[in-house]
Formats: sequence, structure tokens, C-alpha cells
Amino acid sequence: MKYSHVWPIDPSAGKPPEGWPGWPNKKKFALVLQHDVDTQKGHDKCYDLIALEESLGFRSLFSIVPERYTVSESLRNDILRKGFDIGVHGLKHDGKLFLSKKIFQKRAVHINNYLKEWHSVGFSSPSMHHNLDWMHLLKIKYSISTFDTDPFEPQPDSVGTIFPFWVQRSSERTGFVELPYTLPQDHGLFIIMKETTIDIWKQKLDWIAQKGGMALLNAHPDYMNFCGKKLSIEEYPVKYYEEFLNYIKRNYAGQYWHALPKDIARFWSESMVQKSESSASSD
Ligand SMILES: [Zn+2]
Repeated sequence: MKYSHVWPIDPSAGKPPEGWPGWPNKKKFALVLQHDVDTQKGHDKCYDLIALEESLGFRSLFSIVPERYTVSESLRNDILRKGFDIGVHGLKHDGKLFLSKKIFQKRAVHINNYLKEWHSVGFSSPSMHHNLDWMHLLKIKYSISTFDTDPFEPQPDSVGTIFPFWVQRSSERTGFVELPYTLPQDHGLFIIMKETTIDIWKQKLDWIAQKGGMALLNAHPDYMNFCGKKLSIEEYPVKYYEEFLNYIKRNYAGQYWHALPKDIARFWSESMVQKSESSASSD
């Protein structure tokens, strides 16, 4: 395959950042589960997905589009009440957010209002379009808008690391933590490539665990089939995702820090950013 030297694994992305102290409680790697909810169909399947994750002892981030479908307030409240979290996934998911700085500036105001209203500190970008510099206009602690390696994305500029990184606002001491997704997205694997096993997820997870990085999976409820009946177009059986969760539990029990993105961002700010600032100021 044309990209087999960098996908699903880019060997150079496994190097830990300078000054890396390791994950909390000496865990071997970090595990983050995230769901971009792209359509009404996906929105309406969130409760099924929450129930599945709860039954297996996992928690995740639901990234919701504010102005594309009807967002249920009780769903938002239930997500937070159950210890899951909410992120803002673009504004309209119409492919236009990053077309010009003017459009972005205008929409950033609305995105910030939703962040506040939804008690959220995180943003994920539709179709992984991104301009990390413009994104300083957002009132966020973290974003999930990049990937370690994914030559199949519309904007395929990989960040080349399986660790989070700090995005500093130039000349100011503010910024946000960027969390690249590091496991291939479900849509690419099961809808485009028509994979019928989760071997690629397992292979990549094993490598991330070995390197001590952050396993971040973005799986869409939109494409998951929960009813066990005939798959509609662009659906895959949810048992693939369930199998992935069970694989982690079975093979890595006690070895990973299962955290929400906001917890990773807080840890990163405290242990990597403030630490380097204090050592810089004492020089
Ligand atoms: Zn999306």
C-alpha cells in the first residue's frame, strides 16, 4: 500500500516529548474515548452508546454540533451527570468554518457562547480541518482537531506525535492543549475500507501502549448499528467498538490512565507547560 510506511503507524511519532515525566500513577499509556456526533441520527444514538460504555466501565467525550440538528438539553445534562463530557464540534459542520479568517472570527463568537452554555472547555473540528493559530480565538482548554498520522484526511497534515502538545498563543502565556487522535477513525476503517475485523485498531493500540503514548479513538455513533438488524448505508455493527473496549480491558487491565480530554489537558498544563515555564524563568 502506498502509505504503509506511515499508516496506521508512523514509527517516528512514538518519541515522547522532551522532559516527559510519564502519565499519572505510573500508568503505561493514556486512553481517551471521543465521539464526534455528526448528524441527528448520531445524536439519537448517544444514549445507546453511553449505556454500552457505562456497562463496561468507560467514560467518553461527546462532541456535538450546535447548529446542524436538534440538540436535546436533557441529553446534554445526562451526559454531564453521568460523568461523561461534552465538547463543541464546529458550529454547523458545513465545511465552511476554516474557509477564511473572517468566517472563522464570526463563528468563533457563537462557538464560544455554546462552550459557555454547555459547560465545555473543548473543541473538535469538523472533518479535522484546522488552523491552530486561529483557534486561539476559542475559549478552550483543549482541542481534538489533528492526528498523529492519517494520509486519508481531507487536510492530511499529520502532527507526527502520539502525545498531546501545547499550542502557545504567540507573545502571550496562554494557549490550549492539542490532543491528536491516534487510532484510525471508524468511518475510514469500516465504511471506506470495509474492514470486517478490528485488527488495525488492535495493532495500533498495542504499539501506542508499547511507546507509552495516548490512545485516542474518535468513533461516531452516526455509523454504529445498535439494533443488530440489517446495516443501513454507512453503518457498521457496534460490536466492533465493543470488542475494542473489551480488548483493552482484557489485555491492559490496570496499565492505562482512562481519562476525559479535559483531565488530560489539565495534567498536560500542570506537568508539561507550567513546569517548563518555571524552569525557563529560573534560568
Ligand atoms: Zn464531524
